[in-house]
Amino acid sequence: MLLVWQTCTLLNKLHLNKKVAVENFRLGVESSPHALIISDANSNIVHINPHAEKLYGYSRKDLAGNNLEVLIPEKLRQSYRSMNENFFKSPKVISLGIDEELFAKHKDGTEFPIELVLTPVKTSKGNMVLTSITDITQRKTNESIIKTQLIELKVKNRELEHFNYIASHDLQEPLRTVSNYIMLLEEDYPELISADVKAHLQAMGAATGRMSHLVRSLLDFGKLGNNRTLTLTDCTLLVNNVIADLNSLITSSNALITITTELPPLYAYDTELRQLFQNLINNAIKFGEKGQQPQIQISCTKHNGFFMFEVTDNGIGIDAEYREGIFNIFERLNKNDNFEGYGIGLANCKKVADMHGGKIWVESEPGNGSTFKFTIAALKP
Ligand code: ADP
Repeated sequence: MLLVWQTCTLLNKLHLNKKVAVENFRLGVESSPHALIISDANSNIVHINPHAEKLYGYSRKDLAGNNLEVLIPEKLRQSYRSMNENFFKSPKVISLGIDEELFAKHKDGTEFPIELVLTPVKTSKGNMVLTSITDITQRKTNESIIKTQLIELKVKNRELEHFNYIASHDLQEPLRTVSNYIMLLEEDYPELISADVKAHLQAMGAATGRMSHLVRSLLDFGKLGNNRTLTLTDCTLLVNNVIADLNSLITSSNALITITTELPPLYAYDTELRQLFQNLINNAIKFGEKGQQPQIQISCTKHNGFFMFEVTDNGIGIDAEYREGIFNIFERLNKNDNFEGYGIGLANCKKVADMHGGKIWVESEPGNGSTFKFTIAALKP
């Protein structure tokens, strides 16, 4: 008797557990934020949740017992049939619509793009499939807007590059003419050229030379990054190469450059990144405090998916009001002869940081040196 009683209790408990599980499953399907349809091996619809009713425009009464193919555009039905057959031959969770384009058919006949996840479910009525449908119309629209904008951007960029090239090229021509005439004047009319006139001509020559350099810099700025290739870059090697290239400046200024942390290997446009380091180190030495040994520290840390590099100097520093403007092209603060330059280096650095998905900024105090910081997205191979 006891055994019979124990068995009955156990069976009751199992039955109750099963009932609870079935109820939980039903509740899960009904309240899911996703459109869900349960169908059998013959594609007969067994259940459709409220979200799916809304998505397809049918009520569950319309669809009960109907074939799922009513929700599939005619041209996709054949491939759906073979997919369904394969699914029931070896049931496992599969996702569809990610690599290939899939569409569903609304009650009003319109088609919309979808992604599907098929999950096998065992029921008392045999093996079934639980299909979760995601309407990706909005995502596809956004993707196509981005694609169009990208094409427009590329066209505009090409136009801009062309304009830059033509403008720089054409601007060089009158400059060459002016310097030629200065030379001709000096050569052909030496008797007319007094010391004063000579000095004026020299000033004109220097100004045209400078202008020619500016025009060339503008052209280089436009071209920067045109042929970029993303490569796995050893930053320690890259920075050491930059230091070696700047050897004569480092020796003549007696600068001390220290790399204070490990510099990581990362995916970067190495030619452009090299130019960025070169500009920052070059400036750190150039804008040193007179009579003081330039001391420069280079380091890197990783934060929230970005590498952050820092180049710190003990130079003249920068006033707060100029800390943003200096990254604009041709922006210079020290226009006297102590500091040569064209105001293009930091504009180039900003462009390089931008093309790596990062930012560049400076923290500084006049008289107390500057720390230039820039970030680079830590890209996965
Ligand atoms: P350039 O060095 O040719 O003048 P940059 O674009 O490299 O042009 O720099 C713009 C300006 O920013 C410089 O003229 C200088 O006034 C300021 N600057 C850049 N780097 C430093 C630095 N490390 N310390 C102080 N000032 C700096």
